Amino acid sequence: MKDFDYIIIGGGCAGLSLAYELQIHNKLESKTLAIIEPRTEYKKDRTWSFWKVIDHNFEDCVEKNWNNFSVNVPSETNFLECNDYPYQSINSEKFYKKINTALKENENIEFFRNIKEVKTENSFIFNSVPLPTENNENKLWQHFCGIEIETKSNIFDDGIINLMDFNCEQRESVHFFYTLPYSKNKALVETTWLSKMSDTEKDYDKQLKSYVENNLKIKNYKIIYKEVGTIPLFYPRNIDKSNSISIGTAGGMTRLSTGYTFLNIQEHCKYIRENIENISKSKKYEISKKYQFLDKIFLKVLKKYPEKMPDIFFKMFKTSPNTVIKFLSNKSNFLEDLIIIFKMPKWIFLKELF
Ligand SMILES: Cc1cc2nc3c(=O)[nH]c(=O)nc-3n(C[C@H](O)[C@H](O)[C@H](O)COP(=O)(O)OP(=O)(O)OC[C@H]3O[C@@H](n4cnc5c(N)ncnc54)[C@H](O)[C@@H]3O)c2cc1C
Repeated sequence: MKDFDYIIIGGGCAGLSLAYELQIHNKLESKTLAIIEPRTEYKKDRTWSFWKVIDHNFEDCVEKNWNNFSVNVPSETNFLECNDYPYQSINSEKFYKKINTALKENENIEFFRNIKEVKTENSFIFNSVPLPTENNENKLWQHFCGIEIETKSNIFDDGIINLMDFNCEQRESVHFFYTLPYSKNKALVETTWLSKMSDTEKDYDKQLKSYVENNLKIKNYKIIYKEVGTIPLFYPRNIDKSNSISIGTAGGMTRLSTGYTFLNIQEHCKYIRENIENISKSKKYEISKKYQFLDKIFLKVLKKYPEKMPDIFFKMFKTSPNTVIKFLSNKSNFLEDLIIIFKMPKWIFLKELF
């Protein structure tokens, strides 16, 4: 069996982003890398969206940018502009193709299906595969199903996304729809739940059909793509060892109050690349403790008072868009944190704090 300097377990978003970051900064010219990935082919399997608060390596994989978004509860809609931090959607098919094409050019990189095919004792390991979740029934997840629909006529306003539409049944959970119009006749429509993993919420097809036909008032459409996903709203278990670190969702790169992970993965990869020569001794990279603390309280409130969450989310967006975007994207300063904190219902949050 062959020895490698580095091993990446999982060739998904984090694993491939890291390999690419190392490759384009010439960190693999005299080092060898094994990528362990069981899938046999890469195709579009998710859409990564976020406000672009930092530069990243995948501008050419962006499906679309938007400068406007809306959030609504049944009685009111809030329209916001995001010219400074456009909302971007990355097509995973383009992302996988771009990276795999670049990696194939380097003879120092090899792909394997199983970790048992390589020697691990002398390698530094980057692991993006989380350990199985313990006490699963008590944990909160963001779980969702999205369909990309195509209509005959031009009915979408493709200049604005609907980030959260709470005008839907909540079933004692937190539920909203999310609509990304890629063009005037094509959009991704997603039903999203923040809850424990209950089967009662998983009639996704029915929810989507009803939303598209009754809320969006679209009768003639065809489904051209579907994605189903779960994002843990807790930090997955991982075991820190001297020769290994966790990356991606497994490495705690998900912002727990929102599920946004993609840009955190990119920042983590940059940190690893900058410290690769001394990675085993480098400080652990994590989402700032400030956000970990605030998100913990936020999720406690969410778990206890799901019925209050549509209003809480709605109020959060009743401020300058840049403030809320920076807060949700881990880029806010102290003053901006305070502005958001003061938008929250004080008693409930204080009770959960203590
Ligand atoms: C459908 C979906 C949509 C999402 N949308 C967004 C979004 O819009 N914005 C955002 O910021 N975040 C989003 N996320 C969250 C997050 O960005 C993604 O989950 C992202 O793919 C996480 O990257 P990762 O590398 O940790 O995991 P993955 O991309 O899932 O990669 C893990 C890889 O490990 C492989 N693997 C599994 N088992 C093994 C094994 N035993 N050995 C080796 N390899 C193994 C898998 O095949 C996979 O390729 C989304 C998540 C999902 C599921």
